[in-house]
Amino acid sequence: MALEEYKRKRNFRTTPEPAGSRSRRSPAGHKARFFCVQKHLASHLHYDIRLEHDGVLLSWAVPKGPSLDPAVKRLAMHVEDHPIEYGDFEGVIPSGYGAGIVMLWDRGTWTPEVDDVDAALKKGDLKFTLDGYKLKGSWVLVRTKGARWAAGGADRSWLLIKHRDDWAGPVDIAEFAPLSVKSQGDFADILSQENPDIWKSNRPARSGEAGALFEKIIRRAIEMRSERSDRSARSVRSARSVRSARSARSTRTKPSVARKRR
Ligand code: MN
Repeated sequence: MALEEYKRKRNFRTTPEPAGSRSRRSPAGHKARFFCVQKHLASHLHYDIRLEHDGVLLSWAVPKGPSLDPAVKRLAMHVEDHPIEYGDFEGVIPSGYGAGIVMLWDRGTWTPEVDDVDAALKKGDLKFTLDGYKLKGSWVLVRTKGARWAAGGADRSWLLIKHRDDWAGPVDIAEFAPLSVKSQGDFADILSQENPDIWKSNRPARSGEAGALFEKIIRRAIEMRSERSDRSARSVRSARSVRSARSARSTRTKPSVARKRR
């Protein structure tokens, strides 16, 4: 898939997204190439995993985000290739296709575990290693069986699965590491970082469907931040109660030992 579909869906006069003018060929074989995961708050929150291949970013939209648990298979919708330059993008897509807020959630390099990436894509079974900040180790993207015969473009559905290795585990990585690797911010921070001039000229009218959708996305960004601060307040409280229970116990039993240990 070339970039025609990507370009067709977007009007580059009204969006700050990169247009994909540069073309860089990536080396063949098992060499490391760029990968990223963009957390995308659009009409629905999802995570876009992008793997550099042949001068473009192969892209899958993962509604629930990647899971480090090998027992969890995450639906990954194969979407159109994106330009390499888009891989570093973090900011606001004010209107049109993909309207919303984009966070660079993870980035690094990926290495195919197969000799021929194109053949693996055609077969619907791509094994690879990630070396990002959050995602590491061995993974597979596998096309769902029987999808070709299903209606409504379901042949685009794949599964993203973590292989069992040192980087697998029961941690909910999306919850544990929710912020940007580029700005360290959340969606609300990304919104407020936007240059106000660009922001205003691109902002959809308050009336109309696009405006209403964007208002909803802004509200959701603010809600997500308060949900996160509620959660961290709860975990601070529970950590405190564990500590006070521990110190109460140690004072009760062996006060002299407890004091010496400090
Ligand atoms: Mn997306």
